[in-house]
Amino acid sequence: MSATSQAPIIPIKSSSEPPHVIAPDAANLFSRRAQRFDQLAAGHSLGDWLRFLGAISRAQHEALQVMPALDLPDAAQMGVARDHRMPPLPAQSWPRPAAWRDSLSAIAAAVSNIAPDAARKDLARLATYDAAQIEALADRVLHTELYGDDAALLPYVAAALQVLWTAGASRLGVAEIGALDVPGVCPCCGFLPVASVIRTVGEVSNLRYLHCALCNTEWNLVRLKCSTCDVTDGVTYKALQDESGKENDSIRAETCESCKSYLKIAYAEKAAVDPVADDLATLALDILVDEAGYSRSGPNLLLVPGG
Ligand SMILES: [Zn+2]
Ligand SMILES: [Zn+2]
Repeated sequence: MSATSQAPIIPIKSSSEPPHVIAPDAANLFSRRAQRFDQLAAGHSLGDWLRFLGAISRAQHEALQVMPALDLPDAAQMGVARDHRMPPLPAQSWPRPAAWRDSLSAIAAAVSNIAPDAARKDLARLATYDAAQIEALADRVLHTELYGDDAALLPYVAAALQVLWTAGASRLGVAEIGALDVPGVCPCCGFLPVASVIRTVGEVSNLRYLHCALCNTEWNLVRLKCSTCDVTDGVTYKALQDESGKENDSIRAETCESCKSYLKIAYAEKAAVDPVADDLATLALDILVDEAGYSRSGPNLLLVPGG
């Protein structure tokens, strides 16, 4: 190697076209989420719970780093999915490998000694379940049936499923994933978004991406548009205010008058937001818009509804 290289690196002119899909960053996603949970926990009335979720995110990071090779769709199967505008790793029908249950065991082991009492009892019960019972809980998560008996166990099961699907999504090759007909579901796994994020990508600022609640893939959707019913009229924003009346400008609720749904929208240009962590740190905003008559259009899988 010499200072005067024969093959200089020529900067590639950046395209102004934003990427349609952004794959999850497997090396950093869950560790950054853990840091954000810790940051949001400071001085928060739900601080202990947010710190516990930070520990779960850290355990997800460790589990993702050791996730073995996966049997992912080959080029022909990807082509079929693209032609039929179907997600390549569908939440409800991708044959999930048993390795995800190893992630579940690892996550449970990593957090059980720091879990609050109720959570520790839940984890002890989960440890007595056999593979068939655990797979049945997974089916409930993947069909968003997040209620009923054992609902308190579902966030742990979901955390492990997020690790599996995030591994799949990050290894698949984003360029192979086509757009779907429905803007409100993930083009990689067909699951619902947990929130939107406004971010800068390359040199383009102010781009809106929906963030998948399961596989952490993000997909582009124009702003000021309801992700559920596709209308642009009647989309408005609601935010929390602190005691001095200052608005929380890092996350707001995007509400739609047409279908009466809402989803939160986090502003990555304002703070180091994480759509999952910032969502759970602002449950008061959910109560506010829920009382105003709107229903949430995508779940946060780390939350036990009503729990
Ligand atoms: Zn997804
Ligand atoms: Zn709508």
